[in-house]
Amino acid sequence: MNPLYRYFRDIYLGVVTTCIGMKVTLTHIFMPTITVQYPKEKLTYPPRARTMLVTDMETCNGCLQCSRACPVEIIHIETVKALPEDNLGNAPDGKPRRLHVLLFDVEMDKCVHCGLCTEVCPTESIHWENQHEEVSFTRDGMMRHWAEYSVEDRERLKKRAEEIKAEKAKAAAAAQAAKEAKAKKEGDAPPKKADKEGEPQIKSTPTEKPAAKADTADEKGFEPGTPEAKPDKAPPADDSPKNDEESK
Ligand code: SF4
Ligand code: SF4
Repeated sequence: MNPLYRYFRDIYLGVVTTCIGMKVTLTHIFMPTITVQYPKEKLTYPPRARTMLVTDMETCNGCLQCSRACPVEIIHIETVKALPEDNLGNAPDGKPRRLHVLLFDVEMDKCVHCGLCTEVCPTESIHWENQHEEVSFTRDGMMRHWAEYSVEDRERLKKRAEEIKAEKAKAAAAAQAAKEAKAKKEGDAPPKKADKEGEPQIKSTPTEKPAAKADTADEKGFEPGTPEAKPDKAPPADDSPKNDEESK
């Protein structure tokens, strides 16, 4: 190839390819910007996006439905019964909250974001929230603790619940023992007079039935045209022809 020709051809191709590149650059300069300057700017997710689970412990009534629905069993809940004086307030459905939710942990690193827990929650306490920044370099760091009780309160309430349970069990055992003692005492006692008198009454029942049958038969005897009615009819009169001949 002629060196002079090649020299001018390279200059031409350099100018043309530069113009093509600049055309793409100039086109994007006037297009709307889509890049978000994270973390100064943050995108808003669609309302139904499954991002991060959050639990509102003010409204949770400790029903365990979310825990039972979870297919990977990562929701751990611990509850104890509340006493009337604890005054836990009402759930969003208007019913009083009867349980202390001592523990509400979710292992978010194992969550498959299926959304079943949010679907079954009757109070919508567990829900998705528009956040995605809760990351950690360890598995323990991905454990979410939602219960609002301190360790001391948790231990105190657990101990109180166990004491109440033990008292109830003791009272139930005492009641059962009293019941058995009463039954034993009644079993040792001689049979009452009233019981003896009751037996003939029971045995007399079959003897009444034949009497009823007899009544029925008597009634049938008076029915016209029945076999039993025939004997009751009067015999034929003596003024038959045979008797007339004998009298003559
Ligand atoms: S979204 Fe699914 S996997 Fe995650 S906690 Fe809820 S039920 Fe479990
Ligand atoms: S988050 Fe909802 S489903 Fe789970 S225990 Fe609380 S009220 Fe029940």
